[in-house]
Amino acid sequence: MPLQELTSRTAVIEAVGRCDIIGPETLVHDSKVGPVRDYLLEFEGKLYHAKTVADVAYGIQHPDRPPLPADAFKGDAAVRSLERLDFTIAATAKLWPPDLGVEYPNRTIIRNAFGGNWVPGIAKFPGDDIVNVFSDEDGPYADEAPDPVKPFEYRGEGRAGDQQLTRGNKMLDQARQERRAVRYWYRPAGGTFKFVTWVAILSRAQVWSPDDTKKLRLEYTFQVAAVPSPEPNTWPSQVTDLIDDGEIEDTPPPRPVPQNAVSKQLPKTYLEYVKPFGDTPKACRKGRGPNKGNRNLYPRSRRARDAVLVRAADQCENDGCTGMPADTTPSGAAILEVDHVDDLALNGPDHPGVMIALCPNCHAAKTRGRTRAALKRHFRARAAKLHQQAMQAHQG
Ligand SMILES: [Zn+2]
Repeated sequence: MPLQELTSRTAVIEAVGRCDIIGPETLVHDSKVGPVRDYLLEFEGKLYHAKTVADVAYGIQHPDRPPLPADAFKGDAAVRSLERLDFTIAATAKLWPPDLGVEYPNRTIIRNAFGGNWVPGIAKFPGDDIVNVFSDEDGPYADEAPDPVKPFEYRGEGRAGDQQLTRGNKMLDQARQERRAVRYWYRPAGGTFKFVTWVAILSRAQVWSPDDTKKLRLEYTFQVAAVPSPEPNTWPSQVTDLIDDGEIEDTPPPRPVPQNAVSKQLPKTYLEYVKPFGDTPKACRKGRGPNKGNRNLYPRSRRARDAVLVRAADQCENDGCTGMPADTTPSGAAILEVDHVDDLALNGPDHPGVMIALCPNCHAAKTRGRTRAALKRHFRARAAKLHQQAMQAHQG
């Protein structure tokens, strides 16, 4: 911290004589410390840019040393070194606070005028106790326009993951508890940032909302209402009556069912079941089929089996069936077995168009009966026909 070595009050007074006097209309641009005029040194009734004075004074006190690098002025290092030497420091935002209705083309110009870190949507100007919220219709949250009469919502800060009651969100919540007014800045799409109104913070809540990565997370919302001035005694009773300045426990609402979970729900119709398989069965490509050493490698499709059961609608699909079991499964469904007409282990494709739902009798006849070869041919044609009919029934 080289500015700690600025220890000469005389050097500072000499530096003041070399620096420009600052007035409310003067936009300071110092090539080293930047355009920010956040803190000013008050000396003999005049104001000077504190960082520039500190820079010049350091050079006067230490003429043999190289000039200070720009990062020596980060934060309030210059302010602290001048205060240690009993100089009076004033914050620009306190001397010349933004007037209600003032407009700036963008956030950078606001930073140039008052200083501070302008990434967050909720911030205080350096040396100022008043919280500012910046609502940008073009921003990541597409905030609504502030309502001059009714309470409206401001979404807390934090772009990814659950929002925390820290930093800006904590500042806003403190303003709620202490009933302190907040400057509400708003920029309509393509417009300029305007200090549109003072607001009182009425309450806060949590909502589920997708973040930048479309992942559902908890956000804070602050209910705010426009007030005529920062003085609470000017606030109308319909606003003060709504202020909840007590402790608020975070009680997240029930997590909504995410969209992709909905699409994971079971399909309803045969057509929906069959969709991923394509309309017609294709022969298995070489290499994807079973190998003799390990039959279980073949990915048997539960979905294809379920599709066939939907198509069968609790009836054996053998048109020559001699009778289904009188009993049902414990859940009340017909006792049916889904058969790959051509044995899957012999490269039969996994597609409902080559599968058939059979009652245990018909299934046994197909696998062990004397007529099994003829049944296989018959079921191959039958499965294809039932598949075609089911597809056409849905499409027509
Ligand atoms: Zn049968």
